Amino acid sequence: MLENAKKILKQYWGYDEFRPFQEEAIVSAMSKRDSIVVLPTGGGKSLCFQIPAVAMDGLTVVISPLISLMKDQVDSMQQCGINAVRLDSSISGPEREYAHNAIEDGTAKLLYVSPERMMQNGFLDYLKNQNLAMVAIDEAHCISMWGHDFRPEYRQIGSLKQKLPGVSIHAFTATATKQVQTDIHKQLKLDNPKILVGSFDRPNLIYRVEPAGDLDDQVCQVVKRHKNESGIIYCIRRKDVDEMHSVLSAKGYKSLPYHAGMNVMARKLNQDAFIREKVDIIVATVAFGMGIDKSNVRFVIHAGMPKSIEHYQQESGRGGRDGLEAECCLFHKGRDYGTWKYFTNEMEPQARQIALNKLNAIYGFCTSGVCRRKSILTYFDQALENSNCGGCDVCLGEGEYMEDALVTGQKVISCVIRLDERFGADYTTLVLIGSKDKRILENGHDNLSTYGILSDFTRGNVRDWVEQLVGQGYLAKTGDYNVLTVTAAGWEVIKGNIKPRLLEPLKKKETRKRSKTKAEAQSWEGVDSGLFEELRELRKMIADSKGVPAFVVFGDASLRDMARKRPSTGHRFLEIHGVGQKKRKDYGKTFISAITRYCEQEELDLDV
Ligand code: ADP
Ligand code: MG
Ligand code: ZN
Repeated sequence: MLENAKKILKQYWGYDEFRPFQEEAIVSAMSKRDSIVVLPTGGGKSLCFQIPAVAMDGLTVVISPLISLMKDQVDSMQQCGINAVRLDSSISGPEREYAHNAIEDGTAKLLYVSPERMMQNGFLDYLKNQNLAMVAIDEAHCISMWGHDFRPEYRQIGSLKQKLPGVSIHAFTATATKQVQTDIHKQLKLDNPKILVGSFDRPNLIYRVEPAGDLDDQVCQVVKRHKNESGIIYCIRRKDVDEMHSVLSAKGYKSLPYHAGMNVMARKLNQDAFIREKVDIIVATVAFGMGIDKSNVRFVIHAGMPKSIEHYQQESGRGGRDGLEAECCLFHKGRDYGTWKYFTNEMEPQARQIALNKLNAIYGFCTSGVCRRKSILTYFDQALENSNCGGCDVCLGEGEYMEDALVTGQKVISCVIRLDERFGADYTTLVLIGSKDKRILENGHDNLSTYGILSDFTRGNVRDWVEQLVGQGYLAKTGDYNVLTVTAAGWEVIKGNIKPRLLEPLKKKETRKRSKTKAEAQSWEGVDSGLFEELRELRKMIADSKGVPAFVVFGDASLRDMARKRPSTGHRFLEIHGVGQKKRKDYGKTFISAITRYCEQEELDLDV
């Protein structure tokens, strides 16, 4: 089974190795055992059902929530020489006819449909008359209310198991929480499913989290580092999107906005322009991204705090799907918390509590000063092997740490002690900065020795330090009200035996130093960047003429490999990462002649 799967991987996709858990997922599908596969965004879930679909007899039905997603996947597979079709409201009459013919005469290997279409009257009966290999459910978390993207239409597919007896069902998602996994199992009524959960670490992503100072400037610095590269900028509100878009335009960066306040047509145009690389940057609210499989997003900026770690994992995860390095920068300010909290006001009490807990978790992530990768993995109950991840602002030592963190830490912790460990972070902060808040005066806490002991600093700075002390385990939040208590390690700080790490407050207009990560250096090793640019142009021309996104023709990883190995023959071309039989046939000549021409001009060696 695996032998065959590996052959297909090389022949159609031009890849040499499976990624973690792909083999297990493929075996599960090919032996027709139900499965739930949880892999991070960019982990390569599609191949887990596409390869079995090619290998097995019959038709694989893929349920997917968005038309744009289906379209890109179908286009990609056709580029690899696999007959995939889709049935949705956007296709033309002839396309529909072609799809039905291909399904009925057994030439189609994959069929993409929406959940509504799948459950439509008569459609299941139609499918039952075909030779079905299996059903794959992409973005399966949409079936769960506990996930972050619940879709009522997904609930209907809960009856599939009964309606298609004997057909195995395979669910795929990037949402890692146990609760969501269990819910998928239950809702889909899976039969003893194989559950495969991969690591949520994305080693090729670099995380940088900083307090927002001069936000426009901070964002522009990142954009400047990624000239000619694709990136997404997330803002919290529509208004922020429009403003950020104007700022970028004024500085000469080409970007387009995307938010729910725009009409559907305008949104679609902007999304397409981004996918087709007519512009490099899309500025968007969280409304953007669900249907985006673009593999060469090189940076994701959050110009405000996201609303949960799940969202952050998902949104930042849209960077570097091709496995090449991508930079994820998050700029947060205290006000973001309030903005999100305000949005929860209308919610049902239970849902609101869930949302607030998630909000507190991401706030902790932003402010604790703990390795970003470790924080994310811990949240998803996974462990990080190294104590230094080498790819986040904390581990790269980019933040400025305070010289007198011991004294400052002691001040904060003693205030918690003076308050009898009975108050939360906000209240404690107010006492430390000497606020005239009514509650403080009523409680007489303006008489404490620690009242106003940090009045030289802003409320935001002090609040962040509290969070950093919690993150490093010197303080703990306990009970329903997140009351601050002092841990054993916290007492060691008081005694002066341990020094905490507290971030220096960021002054306006100041920018942090940047270090290059190992991943960055490696993926460019031996690559001629001039040739890479040339090949990008060529790719864009071909993609435009075919009406498909550039990354569907070749991923960035393939272009870099070409600009590294510089093949001069079809045989050599086939050795390039991501070149299968069909792409060699379709594009080999064109790319080889562009490469040879460039190398002659620049006097570079071929066939390296
Ligand atoms: P997911 O759905 O898990 O977010 P995708 O299926 O979209 O991820 O895959 C992300 C990218 O990784 C795609 O460009 C895909 O071609 C590539 N990819 C998947 N598996 C492999 C592999 N074994 N080797 C190299 N690239 C792969
Ligand atoms: Mg996917
Ligand atoms: Zn780290």
